[in-house]
Amino acid sequence: MSTATVPLPPCPQCAGEHLYGITFRHRTSCPLYERDSATAAADHDRGRGIRDLTDTERTLIRDEYEEPDEGWELAVQFDHAGGIHWRKVVERAALFGPGTVVRSAIRRGADDAA
Ligand SMILES: [Zn+2]
Repeated sequence: MSTATVPLPPCPQCAGEHLYGITFRHRTSCPLYERDSATAAADHDRGRGIRDLTDTERTLIRDEYEEPDEGWELAVQFDHAGGIHWRKVVERAALFGPGTVVRSAIRRGADDAA
């Protein structure tokens, strides 16, 4: 499965390019830039974890990910590794409460390419 490495479309607001995970090269004038930077900074302070998608992140990923099966929900896993702050979209098991059971989120169209 290499779906995690498929680039997302550019930022819908500023056309800033997708870099990795759900990190984009926003223009400083982008209306999403400050909110997205604040989210990244908060993640950075916490180090690593799993949390809900922010509204800004939902805007950025648009409908690029499949809606999870019942009992699962889209979430963000963040970590700091190799000097890079990573955020990626995952599916979180909602059945067991706000837990740590995650699996890769599925990009729309991935099945078509298989
Ligand atoms: Zn932007």
